Amino acid sequence: MFESFGQLLIALLIALMEESHSPTPPPHAKIIFMPQPIVGMELSDMRQILPPDQPAYRAQQIYRAVYQQKVADLVEITTLPAPIREHLASEAELGLPTLAQRYLSTDGTRRYLLNLADGRTVETVLMPMDGRDTLCISSQVGCPVNCQFCMTALLGLERSLTAGEIVGQVLYAARDAGLLADTKRFNIVMMGMGEPLLNLPNVLKATRILCDQKGINIAERRITVSTSGIIPKIYELAEAEVRPKLAISLNASTEEMRQEIMPITRKYHLKDLMEACRAYPLRNWETLMFEYVLLKGVNDTDDDARRVVKLLANINCKVNLIALNPGPGIAYETPDPERVLAFQEIVMRSMPCFIRRPRGLDIFAACGQLKRNNLETITA
Ligand code: SF4
Repeated sequence: MFESFGQLLIALLIALMEESHSPTPPPHAKIIFMPQPIVGMELSDMRQILPPDQPAYRAQQIYRAVYQQKVADLVEITTLPAPIREHLASEAELGLPTLAQRYLSTDGTRRYLLNLADGRTVETVLMPMDGRDTLCISSQVGCPVNCQFCMTALLGLERSLTAGEIVGQVLYAARDAGLLADTKRFNIVMMGMGEPLLNLPNVLKATRILCDQKGINIAERRITVSTSGIIPKIYELAEAEVRPKLAISLNASTEEMRQEIMPITRKYHLKDLMEACRAYPLRNWETLMFEYVLLKGVNDTDDDARRVVKLLANINCKVNLIALNPGPGIAYETPDPERVLAFQEIVMRSMPCFIRRPRGLDIFAACGQLKRNNLETITA
């Protein structure tokens, strides 16, 4: 896995040179130097970009400046001697995303379209709430999982994000919202674009960086990763020393219905998913979250609610109901509020069940609506 587009480019050029079987590069091959992004590096990575004669605490100075002080530019790391700063500037760059567009909702939600180093863009949503803000970040550009109720699915997958691009969304949004000094106020949900468990190494590396008490210092319990049900990766996540909380996007009460609205379940069956959930090692402060997008006349009946209760029996969990947020290209409709309440009432008799209030509907920032092509229709 390449950490950045720059590394990928360098690797391609090296491969091109090797193919020529020549000790010197062919005349048409030019080595392009791409500075390494520092955001996304752990302490051990930072040691590698310093000259070998430098003491170990230099890497710690960089680490603290980037993740604790959250500098906006490498030149701000004034704890480093000038020659080391120059070396750093020649080898690396901070690597934060830049703003392509910002959309403000009447309910205070901010939706960011952020530029990545290779010209692609990714979406991040900040939802101010009483006391604590929720930041919804992306793990991939687009998504390979074809959920039939989600507009992001219409993009397909462009590529997975690096750990730095995942962390960069948090640092960017925190700075923009004036919360840089208080990142502990965030809840972070990896429920934006992409299937996080199909990018698990980078998601876990980003989580380690976000949670490190010597850096950004966000508690594991404040970060949630949501999956459509990539079963082998759920077992892998369970093994990680530092891991976010787990949410499962359930959305159906039977195997047949789930296969219809979430085709990925043809590979990862509902029965096996439930087995993985029962085996998942919850920490003493943790409950599993199940998300259920209600589609009018499809998965929202009383019988569906009763089957959901049966499916989740004996799992320490809570259920979040989301009435479909509609969009062009989506064939389903939003259920009436009374139907949503009736569904909730049945599930609530057996386990905690909440209705998720849609946020940022006027800027297409709500669940399942993230898709770049529709932005022309929004007033910035
Ligand atoms: S709901 Fe999540 S996993 Fe499914 S297509 Fe949308 S972004 Fe991908």
